[in-house]
Amino acid sequence: MLPSYYTCNSCHDEFRFTVRDGYYYIGGKQIKTQVASKDLLEIPVRPVWCKKCAVVSVVEDILPLRAFENALGIVRRGQPVEYPIGTEPLEQSDAEELVGAYLRWCMTRRHAARTLCCGKANYQFMDVAQPLLKHAECDFGFIEPVHVFFPHCGPGPGVNSPANIRLFNTEGELIGLLTWLKQGEWIWSVEPLSYPPDLED
Ligand SMILES: [Zn+2]
Ligand SMILES: [Zn+2]
Repeated sequence: MLPSYYTCNSCHDEFRFTVRDGYYYIGGKQIKTQVASKDLLEIPVRPVWCKKCAVVSVVEDILPLRAFENALGIVRRGQPVEYPIGTEPLEQSDAEELVGAYLRWCMTRRHAARTLCCGKANYQFMDVAQPLLKHAECDFGFIEPVHVFFPHCGPGPGVNSPANIRLFNTEGELIGLLTWLKQGEWIWSVEPLSYPPDLED
């Protein structure tokens, strides 16, 4: 589980995630203005410090193919898995279908893991014990995770206000923003979005 945010243990500056989640579009068609929920896969992520953006962000967590094959074997035996996605609340058939979709995605994925803030790979993991991330502006400060439990009630994202969740193609390239969810039909409205052209490349 991602921390709620990070804080410096000396000056108590707070570092909020600029991006903390995203979805792959696996429908295979050209997206116009809508996507179906069934054509989305939640991206497995790890928290990072993006050195390019100088923010707390997340990077795709892509384990070797073997991990996906193992996960499918486990859910087929009726056990839940945590990776590539938590299947605890799902029926076995739904869990098999979902983990199967992740396995098929992993088999075609070519590009190395990218951050979800800028699509680059210039980052430091924040979910490892060492090295601690030093707060650049502080003599003694280190950046530590903070977990806050927010009880969730009411409808999910995209119902009462736009969700604004980033949508990526299967290679981790930003292609859009999920805004409104049509409940019942499980259709998301999508606005086109891509990274600004990068003159450094
Ligand atoms: Zn500090
Ligand atoms: Zn970045």
